[in-house]
Amino acid sequence: MMLFPIFADLAQRDVLVVGGGEVATRKAQALLEASARVTVGAPVLSPELQHLRDTGRISCIEGTFSPEWVIDKWLVIAATDDREVNRAAADAASARHILSNVVDDPALSSFQVPSIVDRSPLIVAISSSGVAPVLARRMRERIESLFDHTLGPLARLAAQYRPQIRARRPDLGARRAFYDWLLDGPVAALLRQARPDEAAAALDAELDRPQPARVGSVVLVGAGPGDPGLLTLKALRALNEADVILYDRLVSAEIMSLARRDADRIDVGKQPGENHHATQARIHALLVEHASAGKRVVRLKGGDAFVFGRGGEELEYLQAHGIRFEVVPGITAALACGAYAGIPLTHREHAQSLSLITAHCRDDSDSIDWPALARANQTLTFYMGVGQLDNLTAKMLAHGKSADTPFALVENGSRPEQRVLRGRLADLPERARAHAIKSPALLIVGEVAALADTLHWFGERVGLEAAAATVAP
Ligand code: SAH
Repeated sequence: MMLFPIFADLAQRDVLVVGGGEVATRKAQALLEASARVTVGAPVLSPELQHLRDTGRISCIEGTFSPEWVIDKWLVIAATDDREVNRAAADAASARHILSNVVDDPALSSFQVPSIVDRSPLIVAISSSGVAPVLARRMRERIESLFDHTLGPLARLAAQYRPQIRARRPDLGARRAFYDWLLDGPVAALLRQARPDEAAAALDAELDRPQPARVGSVVLVGAGPGDPGLLTLKALRALNEADVILYDRLVSAEIMSLARRDADRIDVGKQPGENHHATQARIHALLVEHASAGKRVVRLKGGDAFVFGRGGEELEYLQAHGIRFEVVPGITAALACGAYAGIPLTHREHAQSLSLITAHCRDDSDSIDWPALARANQTLTFYMGVGQLDNLTAKMLAHGKSADTPFALVENGSRPEQRVLRGRLADLPERARAHAIKSPALLIVGEVAALADTLHWFGERVGLEAAAATVAP
């Protein structure tokens, strides 16, 4: 080991920062957060440092560095852009056996400041011993993404209850099991749900219970449109922690490969010969079965679970069965297809509103307000429309939508095989057939769709010649 890691308690201890620029300012601020008594020495101070001095939060010495500045300090940090001054500060510190850090200069430093992931009181510190700072930064990013920000409050709660937990669970094994329950179970979930009082109440109740309650839960997670990079950090965490994952056909294999290795994966897509009602009933039953068995269940859906995803129905069912749930939103197809096709869905000149519409409705139950959708200055996005293009186009034209209204049909949005077909509304069904557009595809209708011709940046575009011809006056 090149360096010995320590966490220093600097509260009310004197620390010297040499330098008055931006870096010195950051260091002084970080030290103040740890309640150190900070003295900054420099010929000129940044405005922030002047403010800290004027409000009495730091002391200052104006002038060029002199070795007696280090006297009685616990630590010295040198952050000037003059290596000789930095060296003088480091030497003066060493002469008095004071540890010193010269920012970005491991050769002159006797201690280094790690990259940190801060979920105080929990702190993860990362060092590459000064030899590979980029690597340390990468590692920090990775760790940062792993832990929810409510981990800090959870650790504080655990600290607050520590004596009681010790008293009620004197046996070490039982105590460990209790802490596992604390991290994995309803207390952590309630903190994520911004319900700290209920979290404390759940902790109290569990302390009184002789046997730990095995409670499962469901996280309804939107997996986004396919590109795994569009998962949220929360979705990734849920996948990392899942015991059971119930996933839909639209969820990509790349996303499934990010899930915890030993999680049970259940494909709950429609079975051959099964109708929607039966599929949904089977999903409800599976959710309740696994959650009741104490499992952490992730219900993973394409896009967002609350946009044409029947997420509401599933939560109502869980609610009726007393099963805890959380919801993690996903990037819905309209947002993803707009972004990946270069189509801003709203635009100051062309579109002041956006509609998400399902094209999948039988004629007899068509409750769509076609006259409203035919008006200008709006963007329409149609989900599940590939089989309905004749019908949709006829309806829009019949209600007065201009035949020249631009459309874009985005197939497999955000995936490597994405294709974007552009054109004018009147030609939509014919051109979609000519290019054999298949599900999943999202239809975007409105002036903004034409921007795909200039703002495209991802994947393939099909039928360009024809689209260009229709754009010309
Ligand atoms: N809950 C999902 C939508 C489910 S309905 C969401 O929020 O995105 C299924 C329809 O979504 C498909 O028929 C298609 O119209 C659209 N869709 C989903 N993923 C898509 C993708 N990657 N590219 C294009 N359309 C997509």
